[in-house]
Amino acid sequence: MALIEMSGVSKKFHRSTTALRDISVSVDQGEFVYIVGPSGAGKSSFIKLLYCEEKISSGSLHVGEFNLAKMKKRQVPMLRRSIGVVFQDYKLLPKKTVFENVAFAMEVIGEKRRNIKKRVEEVLDLVGLKHKARSFPNQLSGGEQQRVAIARAIVNNPKLLIADEPTGNLDPEISMEIMQVLERINLQGTTVLMATHNSQIVNTLRHRVIAIEDGRLVRDEEEGEYGYND
Ligand code: ADP
Repeated sequence: MALIEMSGVSKKFHRSTTALRDISVSVDQGEFVYIVGPSGAGKSSFIKLLYCEEKISSGSLHVGEFNLAKMKKRQVPMLRRSIGVVFQDYKLLPKKTVFENVAFAMEVIGEKRRNIKKRVEEVLDLVGLKHKARSFPNQLSGGEQQRVAIARAIVNNPKLLIADEPTGNLDPEISMEIMQVLERINLQGTTVLMATHNSQIVNTLRHRVIAIEDGRLVRDEEEGEYGYND
C-alpha cells in the first residue's frame, strides 16, 4: 500500500526558482528509500513537502490519509504526528537531558506520564543509549546525539521516518552505526526516506535509490547505486 503518492508535483519559490518539476513517485509502507542528487537539486524541497514545511505549487500529494494539496493549517500537527524527522545537525534541546529530549515529543501530544517513561526507555534501548538517559546533549558525541534525535523522531510511532543527511557530520564508522539503527527501525515496519551524499552507505547498504537533478526525478532503482563522484 502506498504511503506516499506524489503525482505531477512541482514546487516554485517566489515565482522565480523552480525547485521541483513534475515529480511523480510512489513509496509503499515499509520501504527504505535513499534520495540522492547534487547540491541544489531539490532533495530538501522534496522532503519539506512531505511534512508540510512547504506547500506544493501544483500536482497532487498524499501522505497516509492526508491530502497535502488541501491541508488546512490546523491539520498540519496531525500529519506531523505520523512523520518523524531527523536532521544533519540533531536539533536537540541543550538544557534538557537525553530522557527529557525524547519525552518532550510525547508530552507535547498529551501522552500520559506513565506511558512516556516506558516508551522513552524502550526507544533509548532501541538506539543503544539507555545508559545515557541522564546526560545532556553537550556531554555526548555526535553519533550519540544523532541517536537521541532518532529516538525522539520515532517515539510516537510514526509511519514515516525522514532523515535529511543524517550522517552529514559523522565519520564513516559512526555513520555505519547510525545506519544500523535506521535499518532496525525500518525492519520494524517504519518507512524510511533518507536524503544523503554518502556514496559509501548507498553503495553498501542497498535500497531503492531516487535521484533528483535540477528539480527532476531522473532515476528510480531498486537496490540502486549512488551514481555521483562527489
Ligand atoms: P538540495 O536539498 O538538493 O540541496 P534544495 O531543495 O535545498 O536542494 O534546493 C533546490 C532549489 O530550490 C535551489 O535552487 C534552492 O536555491 C531553491 N530553494 C530552496 N529553498 C528555497 C527557499 N526557501 N526560497 C527560495 N529558493 C529556495
